Amino acid sequence: MTTPNATIRNVRAASDTAVATILERCQTLARFSEIPGATRRTFLSAPMRECHAEIAKWLAPLGVATRIDAAGNLHAVYPAAVSPASDSIANSVAGSSLDQSVPTFLIGSHLDTVPNAGAYDGTLGVVLAVALLESLGGRRLPFAIELLGLSEEEGVRFSVPFIGSRALVGRLDEDLLRRTDANGISVRHAIEDFGLQPSAIPQVALGSNVLGFLEFHIEQGPVLEDLGLPLAVVEAIAGQSRLEFIFSGRTNHAGTTPMHLRHDALAGAAEWIGAVERAAQSVPGLAATVGVIEAKPGATNCIAGQTRVSLDVRHASDDTRRAAASGLIQIAQQIARARKLQVEHKTLLEQPATPMDPFLVERLAQSLSAIGCQPHRMASGAGHDAMILAERVPSAMLFLRTPGGVSHDPAEAVAPADIAKALACGLHFLQQLAESPDFLHRKYLQPESLKPDSLTDSEKRTRRA
Ligand SMILES: [Zn+2]
Repeated sequence: MTTPNATIRNVRAASDTAVATILERCQTLARFSEIPGATRRTFLSAPMRECHAEIAKWLAPLGVATRIDAAGNLHAVYPAAVSPASDSIANSVAGSSLDQSVPTFLIGSHLDTVPNAGAYDGTLGVVLAVALLESLGGRRLPFAIELLGLSEEEGVRFSVPFIGSRALVGRLDEDLLRRTDANGISVRHAIEDFGLQPSAIPQVALGSNVLGFLEFHIEQGPVLEDLGLPLAVVEAIAGQSRLEFIFSGRTNHAGTTPMHLRHDALAGAAEWIGAVERAAQSVPGLAATVGVIEAKPGATNCIAGQTRVSLDVRHASDDTRRAAASGLIQIAQQIARARKLQVEHKTLLEQPATPMDPFLVERLAQSLSAIGCQPHRMASGAGHDAMILAERVPSAMLFLRTPGGVSHDPAEAVAPADIAKALACGLHFLQQLAESPDFLHRKYLQPESLKPDSLTDSEKRTRRA
C-alpha cells in the first residue's frame, strides 16, 4: 500500500520529469533556426516546418494529430469526452477543428521568434500546452482542448505582427496578403511557398464552438521577480499611444550665439523628455518612453534648429493613457512657448487596452490560490496574441516570472519551479472549467467588452489596420 508521503513523492517526481521535459523541448525548438548557432524563426521559414514536425511527434502518443491552417498556424485537437447525448463523431477525428459543433477551449502561444531569440518567448506557451494534455493522462473533459502554435506574433519578417492570430479572428485581409518582406516576397507568396492555400484563409477564422483561449507566456519584464512571485494573472493588455513631436527653433553658430539669444530645439526637447519621465513616475501603472531623438543639423558646433522625438505611452486604462498623452502634449507646448520655439505633434498609433475575460481571470486567480500561490493580477505592457484573439473569444493569460526581466535575448530563462507551478495552475484551471455549469453552458460570456462606440475614430482605424 502506498503511504501519503510516498504519494506526494511520486507526484513530485512526476512533476520534476514533466518540467525537465518542458525545458528540454523549449531548447529543442530553439535549435530549429534560420541561422546556425542562434535562434531566428520567422513566419513560414523553413525551420518552422521542423518545429511543426517535432511538436507532432510529441503529440502522437496521445493519439492527437496536428494540422497546419492556411495562415501557418499549428492546430491539434485533444478530443472531448463523448457524451451519449451529443454523440459527436467529430470527437473521434483527432486534429480536426472543422466540426464546429464540439465546444472547444484553446490553449497556446506563438512559434515564431525575434532574431537572436531566447528559448521561451511564445514557445513555452505551446510546450506547456502539450504538457497539460500529457498531464491529463488520457482523461477527457466535457470540452475539446485545441492546442495552438501560432505562426507569427513578432512582426519580424513583414514588419507587421500577429499574422497568425489575425487570421483566427478573420482579419488576414488582402492588404496584409500583399505586404512584402525584405526580399520582395509577399505574405501570399510565403503562404503558397509553404504549400498552403491563401484561398482557404477565410476558413481559418474561429467558429462559435470556441469557449475561450488561454495563453501561458513569460512576463518579459522585471515585475514578478521584483515582487518575489512566480506567476500572475494578466487582467488587461495595456493600450498604447505612439506620437511624434518636432521642436523647431533656429540653427546658429555654437560659438558666436550667446546663451540668452538662442532658440535651441534640442535643449527644449531635452527639457520635455525629463518632464515625460517625471509625469509617468507620478501615475501608477503608466509607462511613457522617449526612444528616438534626432537633432538637425546634427553637428558639434551647431545649435539644433529642429529636433524630432518619439513618445510611447501605455496604460491598462484607456482614459488614463489618453489623459497622460494630452498632458504631455500640453507640457511640450508650454516648454516651447517659454523658449520661443514651435512644437508640432502627430499621432502615429492609438491601440486601446484589451481587458482579459473577467470569468477566466477569476478562475485563474482561484487556481493560483489553490496551488498555494499569491493570486497576483497585473497588466501586460507588451502586446500578445491573446490581445487579438480577445476580439473574438474570451481570453486569458498567465505570466511566468522572467529572471532578470531579460527577454528577446539568448539569456532568456525561466525557473523550473515556476514551470511546475504554471503546469499545476493550468491543470487546476481546466478542472474548474470542466466542473463549471456557467462555463459549459456559456453563461460566463460577457456582453461585448469593447463596444466599437466606446473607441475613438482613430482607435477604430487602428483596430481594423
Ligand atoms: Zn511572445
